[in-house]
Amino acid sequence: MKDYAIIYNPTAAAGKKKKQFDYVIKTLENLKISFKLLKTEYFAHAITLAEECAKDGYRIVGWGGDGTCNEVLNGAIKSKTNALLGFIPMGTGMDIPGAVGYRPDNLKRACEIIAKAHTGKLDVGIATNAQNEKRYFLGIGSQGFDAEVTKRTNEGNKNLPGTWNYIASVVKTVFGFKKHKIRIIHDNGIYQSTCNLVAVGNGPTYGGWMYMCPRARLDDGLFHISIIEMGRFELLYNFNTMYSRTLHPHKHLTDLISKKIRIEMVELNDEPYIAQVDGEIIGNLPIEYSFLPGQYEFIKPEQNEAEQWFQEKHGTKFAKHLSKLQREKSDYYTNSKFD
Ligand SMILES: [Mg+2]
Repeated sequence: MKDYAIIYNPTAAAGKKKKQFDYVIKTLENLKISFKLLKTEYFAHAITLAEECAKDGYRIVGWGGDGTCNEVLNGAIKSKTNALLGFIPMGTGMDIPGAVGYRPDNLKRACEIIAKAHTGKLDVGIATNAQNEKRYFLGIGSQGFDAEVTKRTNEGNKNLPGTWNYIASVVKTVFGFKKHKIRIIHDNGIYQSTCNLVAVGNGPTYGGWMYMCPRARLDDGLFHISIIEMGRFELLYNFNTMYSRTLHPHKHLTDLISKKIRIEMVELNDEPYIAQVDGEIIGNLPIEYSFLPGQYEFIKPEQNEAEQWFQEKHGTKFAKHLSKLQREKSDYYTNSKFD
């Protein structure tokens, strides 16, 4: 039997990506790992494939964008086998492998990490909707404005480069979104707010590397929650700062930390906010967030290489932000580790 079942999304590997697809296969062969390849053929197919392969004793690798990676995660956990799980980031949005520590721009490196199979245990979030359906996630679960954006992005123009499709959806949503009063029940009390969105961070980023929950990390057993209380134009104005992790702290933004959280509408007559995790729509509020008991074992790099990538790209800007916070005597990032 082969060691790895590599589950890939052919749309992420289509067209211009064909060259990259061939490159990955060749690289994996050169690394002399034994693997079988499985192609996803329809929505949510990767969940079934991952579950079956995990039950057959394979190590599972999700190869694609966040959609594929999240499906593979859900299948592996559903199998109840504790199959090792790794990723090869390719496609639109690579925040999920990023949360585990894979850099988004280096296929060769991802193949090397898979072949080396260094492992580490990490937190897996669980989102439960009103129908008691559970969805496991590694990145961010959010409700409100940004989940509305996700819905539009998923339904939007996939021919646009990922980030542009996302930005087009943001602009469309900004003019139609109506804020409502939301209740957030967390470990230390209840917070009520008329907010644009509530983002529950297991991992720190979404939407193609936007740091909505910049202090979130997968090894602390905690959700870092960002509640955005900005006006729609203020939100648009500040949009870009998330890429360089410089949005937080902000006077119209509330941070909470909690192990469990329930988010619900205050007024039952209001149209409920939509919720998404890892880019998948999971229903409307109310939603409850918790963690998988214990942690799950992933194939991951020894160092957080996603953080190295971030530092190469945005390190100077972020360092300036840290100095400014220091001058203002803000302790927002104090004791936060990014290694
Ligand atoms: Mg955490």
